[in-house]
Amino acid sequence: MITNAYCNGCGAKIQNTDKTKPGYISEKLLNNKTSDELVCQRCFRIKNYSESFPYEVSNQDFMQVIDKIKEEDALIVKIVDIFDFSGSFVPAMKQMTNNNDFLLVGNKVDLLPKNVKHNKILNWLKIMLKTQGFDVLDNILVSAKYGENLDELMRMIYQYKGKRNVYIVGSSNVGKSKLINQILKRYLGAASNIVTESVSPKTTIGMIGFNLLDGTTIYDTPGVINKHQYMHYLSRKSYKLTYPQKEVKPLVFQLNEEQTLFFGGLARLDIISGDTCDMINLVTYFSNRLNIHRTRTDKANRLYKEKLYSLLSPPTSKDEELPRWVFHEFRIRDNKKYDIVFSGLGFVTLRAPFHIRTYAPFVVGVYTRLAII
Ligand code: GDP
Repeated sequence: MITNAYCNGCGAKIQNTDKTKPGYISEKLLNNKTSDELVCQRCFRIKNYSESFPYEVSNQDFMQVIDKIKEEDALIVKIVDIFDFSGSFVPAMKQMTNNNDFLLVGNKVDLLPKNVKHNKILNWLKIMLKTQGFDVLDNILVSAKYGENLDELMRMIYQYKGKRNVYIVGSSNVGKSKLINQILKRYLGAASNIVTESVSPKTTIGMIGFNLLDGTTIYDTPGVINKHQYMHYLSRKSYKLTYPQKEVKPLVFQLNEEQTLFFGGLARLDIISGDTCDMINLVTYFSNRLNIHRTRTDKANRLYKEKLYSLLSPPTSKDEELPRWVFHEFRIRDNKKYDIVFSGLGFVTLRAPFHIRTYAPFVVGVYTRLAII
């Protein structure tokens, strides 16, 4: 019987004593498989039945990984979800890893409309990094799902790593497993998905390393659970309605002053005053399945009280209690076009001058940027 083995899907240590803990496999299977074939029960089910088994992976696991990286001179590939920057960016990572070299990868570019200009997004990413005091060697936008820009990313990795090992890090759900599977299939000759991917976070439990062509190792690491991800408060069904599954499509609204838009029951935007003329053109980019409801601002509070969980949903019930809402006010006086970003939910584009107020759970980052479209 194999004793010191690790799951080839999630990296957890294989055990046959506790079904509720990572790495469980029945004794029968354990006796009949070689260590190269071992996949724990959880990974097997995620892969074959799309079931979800969110084991608690503590941030302690993540800190152990960080401690290991700290001792090494490594190249760190930090993945962020460009649709949820504040939910997926951990600024402290740089100090935590003793200022190792970083490449920044903005993943899920396929969720943005096709006409978006990559250099505008990269410029915005640079500004975000600069304000956080986080410097990187280089950055790139990719779609791990569709393989966009992966050749370029691999070229960058080989260029910057020299003889060093590479660690792929990022919050849960940014697409680390998807990316590493693509790398394995496209560039390292793997036959099928090795690392377990799923729509629920916390999939990668241990650290899994794979040999690169020059003999160094590329590691997939467990995702740090980022409290700024509102998904941790929603049911899986609501999350799937909220977080776009494919390219977000624009919706055009013409709003008057003192009108409000609700984005499900998750966020709200009030027009206090707008451009010089009466109507304000506003374009929303959210999940195509999220209901956007327009009302008068003086009726908005009552509507929210009475229609949360029904007309204004998700959330769909009290069980999905989201953290308290906070408001942000934006008053911009020039005449450029801006995005108001609700991180992880979507964004709204409108031309200044405007004065608006937004409401969203405090875990959702809300900020402006120069329009990317
Ligand atoms: P991890 O927790 O960082 O390892 O993330 P996973 O690789 O398990 O991916 C989390 C979710 O994001 C899954 O539902 C993936 O299908 C999805 N995902 C990953 N990469 C992409 C991408 O490039 N585009 C889109 N649209 N979804 C992605």
